[in-house]
Amino acid sequence: MANKNFEVIIVGAGISGTALAYELARYTDIKSIGIIEKYEDIATLNSCATSNSQTIHVGDIETNYTLQKAAITKRTAKMVEKYCLQHHYQNEILFSHQKMALGVGKKEVEFLLHRYEEFFELFPYLEVWNKERLKELEPRVVFDEDGNERKDDIVGIGTKDQWTTVDFGKLSKSFLENAKKESNTDVELFLNTQVLNIKKSKKRGYIVETKKDKFYADFVVVDAGAHSLFLAHQMGFGLNLGCLPVAGSFYMTNEKMLKGKVYMIQNPKLPFAALHGDPDVLANGNTRFGPTALMLPKLERYKKGTYMDFWKTLRFDKNIAIALWKLLKESDIRNYIFRNFLFEIPFINKYLFLKDARKIVPSLKLSEFRYAKGFGGVRPQVLNKDEQKLLLGEASIYTGEGLIFNMTPSPGATSCLGNAERDMKYIAKYLGKNFNEKKFNDELTDGDYCVLPEPVISQKAILNLIRAEIQRTEEKYHQDLHVNKPTDDFWDKPHSKI
Ligand SMILES: Cc1cc2nc3c(=O)[nH]c(=O)nc-3n(C[C@H](O)[C@H](O)[C@H](O)COP(=O)(O)OP(=O)(O)OC[C@H]3O[C@@H](n4cnc5c(N)ncnc54)[C@H](O)[C@@H]3O)c2cc1C
Repeated sequence: MANKNFEVIIVGAGISGTALAYELARYTDIKSIGIIEKYEDIATLNSCATSNSQTIHVGDIETNYTLQKAAITKRTAKMVEKYCLQHHYQNEILFSHQKMALGVGKKEVEFLLHRYEEFFELFPYLEVWNKERLKELEPRVVFDEDGNERKDDIVGIGTKDQWTTVDFGKLSKSFLENAKKESNTDVELFLNTQVLNIKKSKKRGYIVETKKDKFYADFVVVDAGAHSLFLAHQMGFGLNLGCLPVAGSFYMTNEKMLKGKVYMIQNPKLPFAALHGDPDVLANGNTRFGPTALMLPKLERYKKGTYMDFWKTLRFDKNIAIALWKLLKESDIRNYIFRNFLFEIPFINKYLFLKDARKIVPSLKLSEFRYAKGFGGVRPQVLNKDEQKLLLGEASIYTGEGLIFNMTPSPGATSCLGNAERDMKYIAKYLGKNFNEKKFNDELTDGDYCVLPEPVISQKAILNLIRAEIQRTEEKYHQDLHVNKPTDDFWDKPHSKI
């Protein structure tokens, strides 16, 4: 192939790169886009449906999101939904399942009820489900292996009628197919082409070097996952950042154990750590539990090599050591990391995982699930050396010179169109191109997402009922303790009937 000139080159054909190609082709007058991908197909790494949980993270059941963060993610998540509906991808790429955040035990129940009161205006479709309702909607979260109701107080905050699930691999492919349909833009994909180096051209723009060819571009966006930072470092950018790859594995059940998505309450210190159960769209809706979180000394899961790339991208020094030490000295994090190492050890892993997963399904048996071999990916979490700490979300390096590097841990697939919007606007401005904002807003956004509807009275009533029931049970327990004679179940933990 001859050397080729493009207005924009995107490195990496995962969901981030392909979403950007789509937006540039459809909503700007940029004439030529080249996408360079090192593997044989689009989305073979983290964007592939077996690598991630296939969840549209809207912020309604993700308990580590603040209201402000949820308002932002809701907007970008809805873009994915709108895109899929516009192209009629229902039940092919976009799926609807019931979903909930599940609180177990009095403390978590109160946390979720409080969260509901804070979030119901942003997510007016949310419902409060007590134990009785959960028996109908998601029975396996209620009953233990003897068929008895679990003793803990539980509550689900969820919904039955939202779009919840996406095959992000197929979505990536659709972005590129649709980008290529834009007749005013030439979109070319180069597979099996690894970018080795990016250099500033003496004339203008950049030279993107691969093993075989050289490509030229006025603007380059690197959407190469953990390798974005690797390439940035090569060019002398982002030297204050290091990459900590956190791999995630899954456990697959043999049946549709859960009707929908069940999320647990997240520890805010461990944003990648909340176990959940999800219907897997590739496995006929069978429940997949996970992901785990394991620090791995390589940048890509289930691919050869990348060990050296890990060390180069970590840029280990005193500041990284302090950042890691700060993480490890927190006992929750230390224990969590240690436990996650054990989750990868054959035989022990299933026993340990069973204990954790029984918080969701109390009757779960060892024979009902297996380690999902070949599933899972790597979240490129970023360490900031200046602040000596782990950054919890996505990170981008805008060099100000026609070059962007994006690192996208979870929920990078959900926010693909939102991240692409940010980059597209910047690129259009930088290159002096037009951006058709009206068309973009008409097609991908719903206008103002933060309009607050009336409070949902019926849900508030259920919430008050749950609180009253917990209080009644506690009062009875104290009465039994201090006034009456102990009954047979006196030493049981107090629990309400909800
Ligand atoms: C266990 C797990 C669960 C997750 N669950 C969810 C979820 O439920 N919902 C959600 O929204 N997000 C989830 N995520 C996050 C999501 O999967 C990622 O944020 C997203 O896939 C990142 O997409 P990307 O295109 O930026 O990177 P990737 O998908 O990793 O793609 C990067 C691409 O760049 C290519 N590349 C790399 N180096 C080069 C080079 N030198 N030259 C050319 N090409 C190169 C790679 O081959 C690859 O195709 C999860 C992640 C993990 C690991």
